[in-house]
Amino acid sequence: MTDPRPDCQTVARWLQTFLDREIDAPRANEVRTHLDDCRWCGLERDAYLEIKRIVSSGLAVPVDEARAIERLRAFAERLAHDGDGA
Ligand SMILES: [Zn+2]
Repeated sequence: MTDPRPDCQTVARWLQTFLDREIDAPRANEVRTHLDDCRWCGLERDAYLEIKRIVSSGLAVPVDEARAIERLRAFAERLAHDGDGA
């Protein structure tokens, strides 16, 4: 019960699992709390939700939108790997 609060990198790593509802409840709570306070991670969540919405719609993705998704993915990747050096 005294786990440290996850930082942005940790939340970024958990985010996809969280949104797929495959994360365990304590982590889900940590992520939800973090997303409430952290604008940066909130934006990332919105990006993932947008990707999921488009994918699950089954519609063909327009080229411009596909590029936007790639950018969002790259952004998420960068966030997840931030701190590895570079
Ligand atoms: Zn954050």
